[in-house]
Amino acid sequence: MKIASLFKDRTVFSFEVFPPKKTSPIESVYRSLEELEELKPDFVSVTLGAGGSGNGENTIAVTKRLQEQHGILPMAHLPCIHYTKAQIDAILKEFQASGIENILALRGDLVPDFAPTEDFRHACDLIEYIRTKGDFDIAAACYPEGHTEAPNMDIDIAHLKEKVEAGATHLISQLFFDNDAFYNFRWKAERAGIHVPIEAGIMPVTNRRQIERMVSMCGASLPRKFTRIIQKYENNPEALRDAGIAYAIDQIVDLVTEGVDGIHLYTMNNPYVARKITEAVSGIIRTGRKC
Ligand code: FAD
Repeated sequence: MKIASLFKDRTVFSFEVFPPKKTSPIESVYRSLEELEELKPDFVSVTLGAGGSGNGENTIAVTKRLQEQHGILPMAHLPCIHYTKAQIDAILKEFQASGIENILALRGDLVPDFAPTEDFRHACDLIEYIRTKGDFDIAAACYPEGHTEAPNMDIDIAHLKEKVEAGATHLISQLFFDNDAFYNFRWKAERAGIHVPIEAGIMPVTNRRQIERMVSMCGASLPRKFTRIIQKYENNPEALRDAGIAYAIDQIVDLVTEGVDGIHLYTMNNPYVARKITEAVSGIIRTGRKC
């Protein structure tokens, strides 16, 4: 099933998981998948680390398992900047052989130790390429506060439009903590002629290290309400976890109320957090459905 078709009649609710590093056993993520299945997400996306250090075998294994063992619609991430066309061909063949038809096409982060291959410079190059290779449904990433390398938001949105014109059928946003930033971005995207569904990426922040890492990587702005929570509970892990979950729930309620197309929850492979949030918002998500 193509993920794009889901947006026609519902507010989509999806998860992101990541496969274990090559040094860890793949089974370490399988227990999480069992628990996530009970939450009945519309689909689950599986990351693939940039850096050209692997051929995506763990991503493919987790994606296949989602589909075959858990009956969950999977989406495989595919970053291109460190891959040659021949490597991408091999991965796409594996996807096809495994019945994976939904791909999140990405450039990938620039990594100091790995030179780009030059076969793909931007995600739009990959999207165009995938379209020549099979009947895949292709999603792309978007950035409510602008991508960190973009000179400004308007230029970033112009590049986003190129991804949609190249064939991206829906978009998944970078995490954000300020819903107004998302609404402002959504409005600008619409005004620029981007009319595909946009899922809002929500990251429940449950420990301080996670916040520092995320903010340094993606530059998300932190509203005062959020920083006050961190300051107050940073030395109490249980309180910080509960406050992080409550903050994410609050964001989701507001987003669904404002008619968001979908919520993509960055689960960090933590079924406890995913469960708490899903149980709190499932009635609201259903209300958001259009029929
Ligand atoms: P692009 O769309 O290529 O954009 C990158 C930069 O180039 C932007 O500044 C953009 O404005 C600019 N640009 C785009 N097109 C053009 C053009 N034609 N000409 C000039 N400039 C252009 N990374 C991974 O490695 N693995 C993952 O699994 C992964 N999953 C992710 C999931 C989500 C939902 C998100 C939001 C990000 C994910 N990332 C992942 C991170 C992503 O790879 C990085 O954010 C990366 O820096 C940009 O990827 P992109 O696909 O948005 O790139």
